[in-house]
Amino acid sequence: MRQYDLIIIGGGIIGGSALYHLSKSGFKGRVLILEREDALSKGSTALSAGGFRNIWTTPINMKLTGYSIERLKNFREELGFPIGFDQRGYLFCQYEENFESAREFGQKWAENGVRIEFLDARQVEEKVPGLRTGIDHIDPEVNEVLKMRPIVGGVFGPDCGSFDPSAAAQGYFERGMEGLSGRAELRLNTEVRRLRLEQGECRGVELSDGTVIESEKVFVAAGAWTNRLLEQSGLTGNDLPPVVPIKRMLYITNLPPIEGFERIPLTIVDHGIYFRPEGPNLLIGRADPDTEPGFDITPDAQYYEEQINYYLQERVPGMERCRLISMWGGLYDTNAIDHNAVLGEHPSAHNLFFATGFSGHGAMEAPAAGLAISELVQFGAYRTLDCTPLSIERFRKGKPIHETIVI
Ligand SMILES: Cc1cc2nc3c(=O)[nH]c(=O)nc-3n(C[C@H](O)[C@H](O)[C@H](O)COP(=O)(O)OP(=O)(O)OC[C@H]3O[C@@H](n4cnc5c(N)ncnc54)[C@H](O)[C@@H]3O)c2cc1C
Repeated sequence: MRQYDLIIIGGGIIGGSALYHLSKSGFKGRVLILEREDALSKGSTALSAGGFRNIWTTPINMKLTGYSIERLKNFREELGFPIGFDQRGYLFCQYEENFESAREFGQKWAENGVRIEFLDARQVEEKVPGLRTGIDHIDPEVNEVLKMRPIVGGVFGPDCGSFDPSAAAQGYFERGMEGLSGRAELRLNTEVRRLRLEQGECRGVELSDGTVIESEKVFVAAGAWTNRLLEQSGLTGNDLPPVVPIKRMLYITNLPPIEGFERIPLTIVDHGIYFRPEGPNLLIGRADPDTEPGFDITPDAQYYEEQINYYLQERVPGMERCRLISMWGGLYDTNAIDHNAVLGEHPSAHNLFFATGFSGHGAMEAPAAGLAISELVQFGAYRTLDCTPLSIERFRKGKPIHETIVI
């Protein structure tokens, strides 16, 4: 008999959600959680913007986030943990041709139960007091560089919002461990060097200090570090999900001095710049499409000044006087092919499960993804949400599921 029935590698929100859902459905096995940091939730989960939205182009994302948002909404009731759930909405501001395509896509959202309000420019300005949708006020020479265009409308999702992923991860781990009453063990400061893969089966792990731990099943929830571990375990080529670590940065400034600005939805403007109030401040981000893959997460103030603030100043009066208070970088586990999660049991290694590639939407999909993995581990099949489309097999079969609304 092996020492454990399941090892979970990674103390982030995905590992936590799987643990919690196993305990909830009466899993009787012994579980070991291994996290290399000195505390849970120190990876991307802690560095996330915590946004959630059901506005996507792929049905699988609409399904996973639709389900997850309901679970996050009831998180406090279900687990007894506050997670700062705030359903203030997402507002995608649109240039003309994007707005037209969005309108054409409206039927698909309706069919998938995604509530959307299409706003004209005036209504956009009402939702975000102070926002200037036009460009007549911008010096034409400046706009030669900025290439900003009139915002003609907006796609508003009233069911979207934000939460605190770290708090949710903590809640999942605490309740999950309680629920498994003594059968779950957490080891911090414990790094897995490689998985023990033999004859097409995963039989446990080897730690960085050489200790071998046997387990019936292993779930790799190591976020952006998943592929590194799979590679160290000898997997190559098609056996690796097409996922790379990419740095994304977030910035905190003062709120601009505009009456009512503290109540605005998460707002996405030119070139994917997004912002929302964070307590008394403003949280701001913009994905840099030129960032090379890598594990460095050093934040860059110059990027804020040159690639964000020049644009924001033209949209939001007073932004030029808002002080940059803090900033940080973290890693997206970016799926370089289709920007969607890759999860399930590994086709080349029986009893090896993994979930990565969330490309910036892992926190919001954690309730669904953790549940899905827990069902695969416990019952050998998905029961609540069919995540088969997200299997790694889709790349082998040449059937990626491209998600195009990625921020
Ligand atoms: C700046 C930024 C903004 C984001 N914004 C959003 C957002 O608005 N909405 C959203 O849904 N998502 C967002 N995300 C993405 C989201 O944070 C991630 O998808 C999610 O947190 C992934 O959770 P995880 O548990 O898979 O990974 P992580 O939280 O990274 O957890 C993985 C854990 O595994 C551990 N680990 C790794 N390797 C090993 C090993 N060999 N041995 C032991 N332990 C190991 C790590 O230390 C880490 O704690 C954002 C991410 C960033 C960086």
